[in-house]
Amino acid sequence: MTPYDLAPPQARRARPADGQGLIDGFGRHVTYLRVSVTDRCDLRCVYCMSEHMRFLPKAQVLTLEELDRIASAFVGLGVRKLRLTGGEPLVRKGLMNLVEALSRHLKSGALDELTLTTNGTRLAEFAAQLAAHGVRRINVSLDTLDPDRFARLTRGGDLAQVLAGIDAAQAAGLAVKINAVALSHDNAAELPALIQWAHGRGLDMTLIETMPMGEIDEDRTDQFLSLEAVRAELASFWTLTDLPLNTGGPARYVRVAETGGRLGFITPLTHNFCEACNRVRLTCTGTLHTCLGREDASDLRAVLRSGASDAELVAAIRLAVDAKPQGHDFHIDRGAAPSVTRHMSTTGG
Ligand code: SAM
Ligand code: SF4
Repeated sequence: MTPYDLAPPQARRARPADGQGLIDGFGRHVTYLRVSVTDRCDLRCVYCMSEHMRFLPKAQVLTLEELDRIASAFVGLGVRKLRLTGGEPLVRKGLMNLVEALSRHLKSGALDELTLTTNGTRLAEFAAQLAAHGVRRINVSLDTLDPDRFARLTRGGDLAQVLAGIDAAQAAGLAVKINAVALSHDNAAELPALIQWAHGRGLDMTLIETMPMGEIDEDRTDQFLSLEAVRAELASFWTLTDLPLNTGGPARYVRVAETGGRLGFITPLTHNFCEACNRVRLTCTGTLHTCLGREDASDLRAVLRSGASDAELVAAIRLAVDAKPQGHDFHIDRGAAPSVTRHMSTTGG
């Protein structure tokens, strides 16, 4: 299947001329790049990785300089927001050098936001440096406040370390959003308490449906929890008011009157918002995925390592973005193979 299969031919537009920013074949402006800086992680969340993940040889992973060069090319093409992710970005050696280097685009005004998604285990060490380099907001993934459940879900993680990391981030002045994957067996009953806890600390919170990405050791259908059902349950005891906030992403937000906080729902399976998608993803091996839920891929590492000039790199990026699929094709059927074979940890969630 080609990336164009979903598209009625009349929906596609002519490719933009150079100098017009990054516009895909459906007229969507790409202004947001997520960069996975490593496939490695100090946790092994059950829905994300298998217990014995095999990580990539170092030679396949982009150097910090290569990551900077590709990310900066995107900034030159009009990308306004960069999110570093992984794997766990804070386990990448020298990451602060990359953050510092990329912060030049904040200073020049070319970039609106440089941010990070992290599991929080190393935030106590790095929060102050992130803030010093111009990071203002971060996402911390946290699915439970129960230490035993946390250890089981992450296969060995220490909840106290993450909570200390969140403290450090707040102390450094970073706005923290908590992301939790909704899991029917493991945290469904705890979600209201988790939301109350986050809002009580002045943190936004977003719930995510599990996505069928990469082989893991469990059957995800057992854990799949529709956020439509979660929202209906929350609405039975809280007052949820839709907020107009739209980040160009798949999240939709409500205000919870009783907690005063903001709650997001990311529902790639029960709804998709591909028509407004403004983002693409770069893996730590330099593969550009223009859709999270499809197998499309462009090898920018090969372009880079063939000695490409900046103009050739830009041309390769434009070509890839031009072919961005119209929408994803996630489905979560019992016994079915994952919709995409790569893991979230290599794609960069
Ligand atoms: N290690 C960092 C973290 O956990 O925040 C960044 C990378 S992690 C892959 C990014 C996000 O993807 C996390 O919030 C995680 O919960 C989510 N995630 C991982 N696998 C997922 C899956 N199969 N479905 C939905 N979300 C997933
Ligand atoms: Fe690591 Fe994040 Fe995946 Fe958990 S979700 S295993 S913390 S990459």
